[in-house]
Amino acid sequence: MAQLVLASGKERSLFRRHPWVFAASVAKLDGRARAGDTVTVQAADGRELARAAWSPASQIRARVWSFDPAAIIDHAFFKRRIAESVARRADLPELQGQQGVRLIHAESDGLPGVIADRYGDTVVVQLTSAGAEKWRDAIVTGLVAATGCAGVYERSDSEVRGLERLGPETGWRHGSAPDGDIVISEHGVNYGVDILAGHKTGFYLDQRENRLLTMQLAGGRSVLNCFCYTGGFSLQALAGGAASVLSIDSSGPAVERARRNLAINPQLSAGRAEWRDADVFETLRSLHKAGERFDMIVLDPPKFAPSAAHAERASRAYKDINMFAFRLLNPGGMLLTYSCSGGISPDLFQKIVAGAALDAEVDARILRRLGPGADHPVSLAFPEGEYLKGLLCQIK
Ligand code: SAH
Repeated sequence: MAQLVLASGKERSLFRRHPWVFAASVAKLDGRARAGDTVTVQAADGRELARAAWSPASQIRARVWSFDPAAIIDHAFFKRRIAESVARRADLPELQGQQGVRLIHAESDGLPGVIADRYGDTVVVQLTSAGAEKWRDAIVTGLVAATGCAGVYERSDSEVRGLERLGPETGWRHGSAPDGDIVISEHGVNYGVDILAGHKTGFYLDQRENRLLTMQLAGGRSVLNCFCYTGGFSLQALAGGAASVLSIDSSGPAVERARRNLAINPQLSAGRAEWRDADVFETLRSLHKAGERFDMIVLDPPKFAPSAAHAERASRAYKDINMFAFRLLNPGGMLLTYSCSGGISPDLFQKIVAGAALDAEVDARILRRLGPGADHPVSLAFPEGEYLKGLLCQIK
């Protein structure tokens, strides 16, 4: 096995159990390794620290599989890690009875580059690193063993694979499911999930608990849901008894799917829902101009800042939509505002929202800080795993 020797002093982050070795920390590679091969990570003084996956094309030159330098990385290793990850979720109260659950959350579950989401009887797996790619078969076998699922579909078509010089890979890796959407029920609402072409693995599982909160708050309120995608927050608001729900997304197919999702929920009052295939930035302005007001607004935009380098421009975009949302609220109105940008810290996000309230000339307070559900844990050793944050604000 090849040895990855760190530059002097660069072992410190590994002592803190951070799983990434950046290119600038590598002094040399002793021996030969191909992309994805397991290497031993060594401090400059020769101490062995970890076993990691080598990724020569990426700035993240290695990702740690185990901080035990004697660990054997083989099929049994993945079987064990996957079983542990699945078992940890089995006891979490909020996940009881859920049909859509993230089973593996990459680095935060000790499996860098591996994401696995369960939708009913189907598991969708996404591999984003050279190491994960190398162990595809072991990962698929481990998922089948841990879940007994009928099918495993691979959706390794995320752009981040480009950073590891990996092309897209999609297809059934075990069993299959009938053509068409997989339908899951969440808090009593049905959603069709397009695992072949939907965003991420098909659905925003990370917002499950916040969809529930939306349902709990929506009763009797007029709701505006911006960036509605396939109608997640919109349908929960209807289920919670919202007086009306206006939903906006600039993707025609997403709005179409949202309408179809409403149609598979005959228990919801479809007459209270209005959908618009439109740009949120423009629509917020025109609604304001028209003097429209809402009791509750949800803002769940796409990732404006994938990394800290994009933070400044993204901050302006976040401030713009939050300012207009505050202006569009009736007295006592609620804003549920989110950012899924890794490049915007919770602290910065709060500052942006505070600036937006100031510019909108509203007196707003935070009722609750929001984040992803417990199936999207953040390892304390890996703060980069935290990306989704939100605030529930109320104005006077
Ligand atoms: N809230 C959703 C997820 C939102 S994903 C859920 O819980 O399921 C972000 C969505 O924003 C995507 O559907 C994308 O089509 C949409 N979008 C991106 N830019 C937009 C814009 N400028 N105006 C309207 N929608 C936009």
